[in-house]
Amino acid sequence: MRRAGMKTAVAGYPRIGTLRELKFALEKYFRKEISADELTQTAKELRKTHWLIQKEAGIDYITSNDFSYYDIVLDTAFLLNIISERYNELEVSELDKYLAMARGYQGENGDVKALAMKKWFNTNYHYIVPEVEDSTQIRLTGNKLWAEYAEAKELGIETKPVITGVYTLFKLCRFTGKKKADDFINAFIEAYKDVYSKCEAVGIQWLQFDEPALVQDMTEEDRELFVKMYSDILGKKKSCKVLLQTYFGDVRDVYEDIVKLSFDGIGLDFIEGKKTAELIEKYGFPKDTILFAGLVNGKNIWKNHYEKTLNVLKKLEDKGIQTVLSTSCSLQHVPYTLKHENKLSDEYLNYFAFAEEKLVELKELSVLAECGNIEEDERFKTNRKLFAGTRKCDNESVKKRLAEVTEADYRRLPARSERQQLQKKEFALPKLPTTTIGSFPQTKDVKANRSAFRKGEISEEQYVEFNKKKIEECVRWQEKIGLDVLVHGEYERNDMVEYFGEALGGFLFTEKAWVQSYGTRCVKPPVIWGDVYRKKPITVEWSVYAQSLTDKIMKGMLTGPVTILNWSFPREDITIKESISQIALAIRDEVLDLEANGIKIIQIDEAALREKLPLRKSDWNTEYLDFSIPAFRLTASGVKPETQIHTHMCYSEFTDIIPAIDDMDADVITFEASRSDLQILDSLRENNFETEVGPGVYDIHSPRIPSVEEITRAIKIMLTKIDKDKLWVNPDCGLKTRGVPETEASLKNMVKAAEIIRAGL
Ligand code: GLN
Ligand code: ZN
Repeated sequence: MRRAGMKTAVAGYPRIGTLRELKFALEKYFRKEISADELTQTAKELRKTHWLIQKEAGIDYITSNDFSYYDIVLDTAFLLNIISERYNELEVSELDKYLAMARGYQGENGDVKALAMKKWFNTNYHYIVPEVEDSTQIRLTGNKLWAEYAEAKELGIETKPVITGVYTLFKLCRFTGKKKADDFINAFIEAYKDVYSKCEAVGIQWLQFDEPALVQDMTEEDRELFVKMYSDILGKKKSCKVLLQTYFGDVRDVYEDIVKLSFDGIGLDFIEGKKTAELIEKYGFPKDTILFAGLVNGKNIWKNHYEKTLNVLKKLEDKGIQTVLSTSCSLQHVPYTLKHENKLSDEYLNYFAFAEEKLVELKELSVLAECGNIEEDERFKTNRKLFAGTRKCDNESVKKRLAEVTEADYRRLPARSERQQLQKKEFALPKLPTTTIGSFPQTKDVKANRSAFRKGEISEEQYVEFNKKKIEECVRWQEKIGLDVLVHGEYERNDMVEYFGEALGGFLFTEKAWVQSYGTRCVKPPVIWGDVYRKKPITVEWSVYAQSLTDKIMKGMLTGPVTILNWSFPREDITIKESISQIALAIRDEVLDLEANGIKIIQIDEAALREKLPLRKSDWNTEYLDFSIPAFRLTASGVKPETQIHTHMCYSEFTDIIPAIDDMDADVITFEASRSDLQILDSLRENNFETEVGPGVYDIHSPRIPSVEEITRAIKIMLTKIDKDKLWVNPDCGLKTRGVPETEASLKNMVKAAEIIRAGL
């Protein structure tokens, strides 16, 4: 029996499984504990479960081919034969060839590196970057899309297969040969035409092209390319309908073109797409096209505000637009289900909707959208009550404190150039001072100690005793190596955000709310539930203890407000700016406490600062930098001129925002650079970058030990671009992932290299 109501769609569903089943199966396969057959069987089961759940929830447009062993962009590349030679040369199965592209291969059949991995637009998910070589023959060779469609069909479910759209795939590919990207445009178009024809031949009713690249700034050329691609691919009308699915923003640059092309459905994001409603208002929406209105948030975990959503739907209906209610993007960016959250009480859980619960929301909303008297409907009333403002998340003293912050609190005095002079005198460090980014190898014993404490198997005293022993070892170790500025090693930390979140008021932690970050890696972001404040000193005891063991300078180690926010699920009832500022004040308390307790150098890590930079350049300042950079300054502005503030960023890809980084007003910044071409250093010079810098001099991502000569060479290059009074010598970040022997050998070589160069200055 068909239920009444508006039709519903899901743009994509999490594939990793309720309890990360896919991750574990893949890891077993990598360790050769299960066969390829067993792995494919698990995958099949997962797909079946996910389709059936959506079907039972009453979703009309269910996606297929959103399953992936590793990544959807990689799947699309593989389907279209965009496979570099080095993988084709491997004599392995198709599955292993695919996995070799994703994560490299080292074994009896060869030794090849993986393709690069990059952040997927403004999410924490990472996609695999396909490489197009001069010899690459782009054409449809795979069958995954049709195989999965048929699999669903056998279960009695007519799905809409999804594939990365031609424009987005083209934009994400790396062209590694002599030929230009443009030389391949026709091949791309032909391959997609074949995909479309094959869907038509098989009798598929709807095909979904995902085109998130359309929400980025587009040039006139980009627009023309997009129009050309789709005019060619859509060609003569076929009976297989085409849905153009966009997400992560609005399509302001191509909206007028999109509505003119012969798409049967257009998926627009009403959550992150600030201008989506305005575009429809201004340019209209074609009567014979279906609007897939992305109104259920695919990125955040809060329940949908029914009244607001229904108002939007009403407006669309008034305009006579045929509407299907959909998610703002794939649900892969939210955790799977609330069912396994046993520790959080309903007081909290009532406010959340993960992927499974969002299916219920879609269904309820679709019914409410066509129900004559929603005011009487229990579902509507319950939801309205939830949003009526009873959530216990306010902390008056936090609000008051924030209101009292003045412009002056955002500025540290005196000016940095003056501070740098004072600090040189205060610390009397050698030129090219050596240091590390904070963590030291998290060996098995360190993890076991933390986990035993969490499980209540050992007392707090035992836990602390062990860590103190480790800190002492770490300090002696660094002294022996001859480093100038020491760290305590971060043995007490599981994760740089979770550790601080747990010590701050206003954060909640889930048990099983995993979200895929890449391949088999999942993260469990905390939830910012309420106003944030520091409950008590967090790192002070560890740092003070570490400093007491040595005459060298011990660097305090904190995570900054922007990173804490970016790696959490943010609130929706207050602005990001307000949340970030609250976190900044909490971290500021910690900074001041460290200083008051004799810590003279404090590093405030902003590992993820670059991550949430808006997709459109025009939004960079107003939507992000204008408050994130001041938030960082607020954490540090209260210290004495002699106290040295360091910050650290992962990746050196910040060429385009160098003035903003300098404006953080840190005294020193270290960043991950050893695998980059160091182009950033030229840009720093061009921009008169004032902050002292420590670009990573060696790559820590492999157990390989860099030689003294190698590091010397790297430092020499750096000295051609950076003033000798402004350069620090340190490795890249992430020593916690390394073993002890290679860390020791590498750091020794690094110190040696610094000494050699120093002697010649
Ligand atoms: N201080 C942290 C560490 O060294 C920084 C981590 C990071 O850069 N992501 O582990
Ligand atoms: Zn880093």
